[in-house]
Amino acid sequence: MTPQTDRPPVEAALALPARSSLDGERAAGRVCVWGGEALTIDTAVLLDEQRDGGAAWFPRACRRCTAQRAHQALVAHVPMCERCRDEARPDCALGEELRRLVAAHTPVRYCASCARQIGPGEEFERHLTQAPSGTGGAAHYTHRACPSRRSR
Ligand SMILES: [Zn+2]
Ligand SMILES: [Zn+2]
Ligand SMILES: [Zn+2]
Repeated sequence: MTPQTDRPPVEAALALPARSSLDGERAAGRVCVWGGEALTIDTAVLLDEQRDGGAAWFPRACRRCTAQRAHQALVAHVPMCERCRDEARPDCALGEELRRLVAAHTPVRYCASCARQIGPGEEFERHLTQAPSGTGGAAHYTHRACPSRRSR
């Protein structure tokens, strides 16, 4: 039999917590395995089946934590990976999958102060503006260490 799994070890790179260290909600996949955020069908990221001893479990995560973890994993992985550092032809399944996760789950936000995009892993602040007639208000974001604010 040929092994069917040529998927790279993404979950290992993301440093999933051991199931035994989790509370029941996280272990059951009802909340984000990292941050404990409530999940809906739309927001949940389904991670691969994990084996803990003999038992299978299916961790789920929110998009924000997934993007953060994938970004951290990428930052740790690339300097050690010759195939990812080959800029002409990066040929690394793990690097590619991590980049895909970051891109797929990072919400695109733009800084209201410098108008540049807030990249994955960059810290930002969320501001709420009061709407005139109870329409809920709008959120805008700024870099926590915004380059344009620092230079002024
Ligand atoms: Zn989360
Ligand atoms: Zn790589
Ligand atoms: Zn900014």
